[in-house]
Amino acid sequence: MPTVLVTGGNGYIGSHTVISLFENGYDVVIADNLSNSKMEVQNRLEKITGKRFKFYNVDCCDTDALRKVFEENKIDSIIHFAGLKAVGESVRMPLEYYSNNIGSMISVCKLMTEFGVNKLVFSSSATVYGESEDVPFTEESPLGMCTNPYGWTKWMLEQILRDYAKATPEKKICLLRYFNPVGAHESGLIGEDPRGIPNNLFPYISKVAAGTLDCLTIFGDDYNTPDGTCIRDYIHVVDLAKGHVKAIEFLDKTEDPICLFNLGTGHGTSVKEAIKAFEKACGHEINHVIGPRRPGDIAVSFASTEKAEKLLGFKAEYGIDEMCSTCWKWQTMNPDGLKD
Ligand code: NAD
Ligand code: UDP
Repeated sequence: MPTVLVTGGNGYIGSHTVISLFENGYDVVIADNLSNSKMEVQNRLEKITGKRFKFYNVDCCDTDALRKVFEENKIDSIIHFAGLKAVGESVRMPLEYYSNNIGSMISVCKLMTEFGVNKLVFSSSATVYGESEDVPFTEESPLGMCTNPYGWTKWMLEQILRDYAKATPEKKICLLRYFNPVGAHESGLIGEDPRGIPNNLFPYISKVAAGTLDCLTIFGDDYNTPDGTCIRDYIHVVDLAKGHVKAIEFLDKTEDPICLFNLGTGHGTSVKEAIKAFEKACGHEINHVIGPRRPGDIAVSFASTEKAEKLLGFKAEYGIDEMCSTCWKWQTMNPDGLKD
């Protein structure tokens, strides 16, 4: 079976993708420096799949250390999740974000060249569409001005990978622009496990639902949307994970050195609708207040899913109710997240 190297495979999206790869018959090797995840994830993956995956505690920016992974395994393709992702932190620590996110990708590409690995899937983000109001975003929508260093790293990495693909046409590279991944594995054993007070909507709602945090602040209800709150395209992380398997399959047959897909559901959900759906899942009201807008937020973001449906054969299956119920199950089974 072909072996997929999953960098950042101990993290939120990576760990769910490891399961999907396993379920589709791939061998998986994981490289993660545990900067934003706990080793316990590996035990949980073993519980779910019955398999202990080969794990390297390695910083992907350290090319020499990462080389060992390529020397010891016959890597067929790579999914590169490793990176820092907190928007607010990136504003405070831009150099860490540029050096980690760009450094780790360049290191992976150098090793792809050195070891003749030809297939790469890269985690990009809908954030590269910037502040445009022209929704749904299609893959042809113009890239915008990002509002923070995190977003710029994705924007720059897409360009770096386009240049790399142009120079090495034998490589096949797939850029995936994720919309808003939420939810958790149906077992409740793995899920999103943020450090400290969460910044994102779903982890925050679930902490309020659990009583760990007092109250959710809705960041603005004066947007030009039906209920005044922002609209996003939430996608279940298990669907997103399956999208990566489709991307690897696509790279096996495409002739193009570079391809690009949105991964979303094509449906928008407002903040107020998300709260209502979560209340249904947890069975009680979620304390919330209206606060000011958060700088950098756009009113509406959702994906055009046509291209992914047509070329990847990818269509998200889960809706907002499953996203909330699995998120809640993960929260209640792991009220303090995972232990080190
Ligand atoms: P995550 O933080 O849960 O997972 C990232 C993993 O990478 C972590 O386990 C972390 O320890 C590891 N890591 C970070 N830097 C590393 C390095 N230099 N070497 C080795 N390991 C390293 O994040 P996630 O939500 O699973 O996101 C995965 C990828 O998807 C990231 O690149 C992120 O930017 C991108 N993405 C995420 C979202 C989202 O909302 N979660 C949206 C769009 C794009
Ligand atoms: N949001 C909110 N309160 C919070 C966190 C988020 O109202 O405590 C809103 C935010 O303004 C955005 C939506 O929820 O409209 C999704 O935010 P998130 O940070 O999860 O993802 P983003 O789309 O910003 O990447």
